[in-house]
Amino acid sequence: MQPVFAALAAAAALVVLGGVIAFVVLHGRSGAATAKTTEDTQTSDSARQATTTLLSDTLRRNELFAQLVTRLGVDEARTAAARVALESAGFDFRNMHPGDSVTVVREDSVPVSLSYHLDLATRYDVLFAQDSALAQFVTEPVETVEAVLRGVVEGSLWRSITEAGASPQLVEGFTEVLRNSFDFRNGVDKGDTFALLVEKQYVDGAFYQFGDIVAVRYRTAEQTTEAFLFSESDRRRYYCDAGGRSLDRLLEYPPIVDGRRTSDFGWRFHPIRRRRIRHNGLDYAAPYRAQVRSVSAGVVARCRWQSGYGRSVLIRHEDGTTTRYSHLAGYGPGIKSGVRVSKGQVVGLVGSTGLSTGFHLDFEVRRSGKAVDPLEVLASGYRQVPERQMHGFRRMVLESRDRMKHAGQP
Ligand SMILES: [Zn+2]
Repeated sequence: MQPVFAALAAAAALVVLGGVIAFVVLHGRSGAATAKTTEDTQTSDSARQATTTLLSDTLRRNELFAQLVTRLGVDEARTAAARVALESAGFDFRNMHPGDSVTVVREDSVPVSLSYHLDLATRYDVLFAQDSALAQFVTEPVETVEAVLRGVVEGSLWRSITEAGASPQLVEGFTEVLRNSFDFRNGVDKGDTFALLVEKQYVDGAFYQFGDIVAVRYRTAEQTTEAFLFSESDRRRYYCDAGGRSLDRLLEYPPIVDGRRTSDFGWRFHPIRRRRIRHNGLDYAAPYRAQVRSVSAGVVARCRWQSGYGRSVLIRHEDGTTTRYSHLAGYGPGIKSGVRVSKGQVVGLVGSTGLSTGFHLDFEVRRSGKAVDPLEVLASGYRQVPERQMHGFRRMVLESRDRMKHAGQP
């Protein structure tokens, strides 16, 4: 068959298979290997009936990809071809997790395809063709609906919110949203009430994950604390109080454009050292290799790896203040010790070097060698919902309040 037609046929078969696989995943996710034989009369070019068998299983702890697919009856040559195809389709073999499920489709006991499921909505499909393979990344359509979780605090806040149906990440998100407006360490009491208006995502009717937290309310005997997600634009979204003022103070000239500040200056629980230690800066979560810029003009005093800070740039400014940018993946163009930088110049790229659990920038400001709160010493303030968007925002506030209040009531 002409090579062009072979590739087209392969791609078409991949799409069909995708549908079959999706069906199996959503309806057959059990731990143990499942053998399911179905008669497939649709195979166009063979007079006799082909027997299609679907086998799926999950990755065991410390198991390699090759070991799992071999267990599912894939021979060495196809295993090697699948690896090559997956790699070229962007599959990250370092990112495999125990419990990930793989489905192998065999026709007349010959493996014709396999699917590696990352989660309910995403997977890689591999189609075997003669002695090679073709792979593609597939995402299932995700349906998003808004739902309200609410309840009364009995015992720990954590347990009360998870009993109301939240995942651990959602509980963290809830306290994160209100971290600057409510003291969850000392202010939680039995009988307090909470409500979250949150997005729930479904794949083919099965719950997949929580999406954005749209609005929250925490009520104690003394006060009610609320937050509403405001989207000024696709890229500029932040939580506000009902008056439209951001709950978060922001540096007027942050080191990362649109970086999401995840940790503030002060005492906090260190994720790696597993104890409360002083955090001497601000953390900004941002994509890998996002640009890090100098918040003010100055001279590069140091530009090298520095123990827990990883790859780090230290800049001395005219008034003697220094700023440090750490955990970098790389330095900005031309950045080295002694060079002069201007305000806004790219001095580094976001990474996760040193003591770090994810791609983020640690930004520190020091005066006479002492770490100070950047929000205190650098120009910072609150954002306000722009006047032209205030009407829509107010309506969203009223609707969210109403839904959080009446959810679950007849
Ligand atoms: Zn930090």
